[in-house]
Amino acid sequence: MNIILLGPPGAGKGTQAKMLMEAKGLVQLSTGDMLRAAVKAGTPVGLQAKAVMEAGGLVSDDIVIGIVSDRLDEADVREQGAIFDGFPRTQPQAEALDKLLVEKGLTLDAVINMAVEDEPLVGRISGRFTCGDCGEGYHKEFKKPAVEGVCDKCGSSNFKFRADDNEETVRERLKAYHADTAPLIDYYTATGKLKTVDGMKGIDEVQAAMVAALEG
Ligand code: AMP
Repeated sequence: MNIILLGPPGAGKGTQAKMLMEAKGLVQLSTGDMLRAAVKAGTPVGLQAKAVMEAGGLVSDDIVIGIVSDRLDEADVREQGAIFDGFPRTQPQAEALDKLLVEKGLTLDAVINMAVEDEPLVGRISGRFTCGDCGEGYHKEFKKPAVEGVCDKCGSSNFKFRADDNEETVRERLKAYHADTAPLIDYYTATGKLKTVDGMKGIDEVQAAMVAALEG
């Protein structure tokens, strides 16, 4: 099974993708994570993407499509299926994904649209952080570690905040979402594969709605 999670930055795509990985045995394919890894490693892709990401803009379609194409050739994605998180973000990316899936003999089963209002997103994003060792996501209000300063999953105290999770950049990312990504709701509605869940609900309720949408 291959599915797309669609929604603005801060909708909870990463959190829900990680839960779906466990529930459905799928592999999370997050272009944001892949690009951040490239920036950290100082690869040619990372060097090109860094400034755009820091400003809250979109990295070029060619770069992003290239890294997704490579990832779709790896065994785990082919065998277990992918949850696309943060991709596609533009119509050319959506069209490229359609072509890639055909070329690679894969199918798209569903697109889940997480419907959320803009204003709460700024607060959601500003409060989030992750474990630098295992990648578990947290939020200072909505999902605190059980013991302050200690990761529930791996016991690490090495927490990280993203450089682009500040109010000014978040507003730019929301603009990019409305201009380039929101039109994909119509694109996927036309395929009959779009299912919308209320992303304003609590984390577990959203997950339950997603699992129900995938099974329904
Ligand atoms: P995310 O982790 O999905 O919020 O992505 C963080 C940043 O990476 C975005 O603000 C963009 O600068 C870049 N990025 C991630 N995915 C894409 C994509 N599919 N197309 C263009 N830029 C992307």
